[in-house]
Amino acid sequence: MSSKALSAIIRHERAAQEVAGLTHRIGVKLGHCPISRMPADDESKIDDKGRIKTHLWHAFRHREPSSCGWGEAGLCEDGIADALSSGSEYACRHCKRAYQLILRRKDARQELGNARRAIRTMGRAALSTQGAIWERLP
Ligand SMILES: [Zn+2]
Repeated sequence: MSSKALSAIIRHERAAQEVAGLTHRIGVKLGHCPISRMPADDESKIDDKGRIKTHLWHAFRHREPSSCGWGEAGLCEDGIADALSSGSEYACRHCKRAYQLILRRKDARQELGNARRAIRTMGRAALSTQGAIWERLP
C-alpha cells in the first residue's frame, strides 16, 4: 500500500473516531441536563422519537417571527447558543456544552466526508487502470 493511500485511510479513521467520540460526549452532556435527570413520567416531556425534551431540544425547535416579516424561522447557530446561555430562555450549561460539541461534530463529519471522497478518488483512479469493473464481470 502506498503511503498516500495509508495516509488517506488514517485520515478517514481519525475523523470517524472523532465523530464517534463527540457523539458519545454529546450524549453524556445531555444526560446531565436537569430535564434529563427528572423522571420522564409525562408524555409531554418526551418527543415522538422517544427523546427527552431537553433545553437543547427546545432551542432547536424554537420559532420566532421571521426577519422578513413573513412566517416563522428557527434560530441560527448563534441564536441557539444565546438561547442556551445563562439568563436566556433555555439556559442550561450542559445543553450549551452539548451544542458546542454538536458544532464540533458537524466539522468532524465534514472532514469524514472529505476523507471518504479522497479514498474513493484513489479507488476510482486505481480501477481506471484496470478498466471498468462491470466489463470484467462474468
Ligand atoms: Zn439542559
